[in-house]
Amino acid sequence: MTLEARKIRLLMQLRRAGITDTAVLAAIERVPRERFVPPSFHDQAYENLALPIGLGQTISQPEVVALMTQALEATKQHTVLEVGTGSGYQAAVLSRVCRRVYTIERHAELLKQAEARFAELRLHNLTSRRGDGSRGWPESQSFDRIIVTCAAELTPEPLLEQLREGGCLILPVGGQGRTQELLRLRKTSAGIEREELGVVRFVPLVADGSERRSAG
Ligand code: SAM
Repeated sequence: MTLEARKIRLLMQLRRAGITDTAVLAAIERVPRERFVPPSFHDQAYENLALPIGLGQTISQPEVVALMTQALEATKQHTVLEVGTGSGYQAAVLSRVCRRVYTIERHAELLKQAEARFAELRLHNLTSRRGDGSRGWPESQSFDRIIVTCAAELTPEPLLEQLREGGCLILPVGGQGRTQELLRLRKTSAGIEREELGVVRFVPLVADGSERRSAG
């Protein structure tokens, strides 16, 4: 089966899984996932699977990328922050559905590869940097939407602070080896509204200093 035929099959699977937002489906169709996975996994790029991208990290399963993007309710007016650039695939999908994407990754090598892909695909509405995304974006501008693609034990407070009122934050919460819940937190004038979107499995969010603390 060609990659194109596999992509059509994947889009049908996503519709069956409840992805109805046409902007999200169009973005998945337009972003070449095979460019975001190592060459040895090209033939599996349109399988509904998370795949290894090196340094013990993964590119998320397409269904999870689509579900999280749909849950974000992002539009062409929105500025979005992503924590956990990884391969850059989720950021590339977001770049097709919103005005501007800021994405932050702790591994310099993964970030370098993702930035090369953004340049090759001419995705000019993306800004990326290396750093600890649990602190949000260092200049702490406020965002309409925030998406976290690694699992934290608790919601990092700076992310809630950097979320604009009326905006939402999608993130997996829970430890490794335990059930993680995908949450949508909406910031309203009355406080934070919390919705549970289902059980997921993500690699951990590693905050600066936490590895040293746990080793020592
Ligand atoms: N969104 C990615 C994609 O489309 O390929 C998948 C992300 S992968 C599941 C999680 C990523 O979060 C990893 O690349 C990991 O290095 C990164 N990460 C973990 N803790 C982080 C932190 N504190 N700040 C920024 N990135 C972090």
